[in-house]
Amino acid sequence: MRLDLNTAAAVAARPVAAPTRVALEGVSLHYGRTAALSGVSLAVAEGEIVCLLGPSGSGKSTLLRLVAGIERPSEGRILIDGVEVAGPGRFVEPEARQVGMVFQDYALFPHLTIADNVRFGLRGRPPAEAGRIVAGLLERVGLARYAGQYPHTLSGGERQRVALARALAPAPRVLLMDEPFSSLDGRLRDQVREETLDLLRETATTTIFVTHDPDEAMRAADRIALLHEGRLVQCGEAEDLYTRPATLFAARFFSDINELPGTCRSGRVETPLGAFAAPALPEGAAASVCLRPEHVRLVAGPAGIAARVVRTAFLGEIDHVVVAVPGLDTRLTVRAFGRTGLDADDLVYLEVPARDALVVAHDGR
Ligand code: ADP
Repeated sequence: MRLDLNTAAAVAARPVAAPTRVALEGVSLHYGRTAALSGVSLAVAEGEIVCLLGPSGSGKSTLLRLVAGIERPSEGRILIDGVEVAGPGRFVEPEARQVGMVFQDYALFPHLTIADNVRFGLRGRPPAEAGRIVAGLLERVGLARYAGQYPHTLSGGERQRVALARALAPAPRVLLMDEPFSSLDGRLRDQVREETLDLLRETATTTIFVTHDPDEAMRAADRIALLHEGRLVQCGEAEDLYTRPATLFAARFFSDINELPGTCRSGRVETPLGAFAAPALPEGAAASVCLRPEHVRLVAGPAGIAARVVRTAFLGEIDHVVVAVPGLDTRLTVRAFGRTGLDADDLVYLEVPARDALVVAHDGR
């Protein structure tokens, strides 16, 4: 048989799609007349870490509770490993779903030792096997020496690790975490997040976690599902959402943004900073040209757009410069690497590479 090397290489290079572990199909949940979640469809692959991101009240916890089986959908269905666990006429109780949970406050049992907390989900297993799993996990999260102590003797970061070990002990098919790092501050939060991710990757644990912090979502998730008012706005890798936001809401959610309103005429939106191509928008559509602060550049020569410095702030790695452009009602925020040495009232010149501009229609296109 003749081997076509090109074809063989192409086949080898093509990533094999992992099977779907959790699928939501058109899931809605109404509380009386409030729609906490509306028509959400989402598939999470085996071993994938997906973040539910959105402002308070957008439906993130509701979605998590639906997957856990704490709530029943009003419409749609949920499948785990291809088996329907919630849908019209079928509901699998939470205990039978093999789903693990880590809550914001960790919800450790105060009257149980650290080891017994971790052992909790292993009831029914032979004691020797349960003991091995508990010892292995406590060792892995660096808490073996605290096995006989009670939760109140541990720090916040340590309690989070116990909660994670407890949730992972029965090797759940999917791990659900609701704002798991939000009780921790700054550096500790970063450290605990990194350790958690290491463990999730090592154990190839399929994970859905909730956060309202875009930075956290971008650092931790394979894919981000952005929710707004109970709807899934966009789902993709961090870079997709940042560079190709589906709506104005999505564009605004990931950073401060400069918005220049305009109208689409002949496939372009005119602004005081120039015209920006908008080939997908219909004639006359109201749109905003959105520029992230790092995409407005300070340039040396008068070839750029003249602007006046309003104020500057030193933020360490970057300078934050607010400028006023003649003919533009709103001020622009510019993020410049290194010290600019600029002061209020200085004349500067700006450049806006057209490829970095996000032109978003006000109706969300
Ligand atoms: P998030 O986790 O994004 O902050 P939630 O999922 O908690 O949002 O809530 C989504 C919406 O559903 C909100 O409007 C909230 O007020 C409403 N909601 C959540 N739980 C209940 C409930 N038990 N009864 C009535 N409304 C609820």
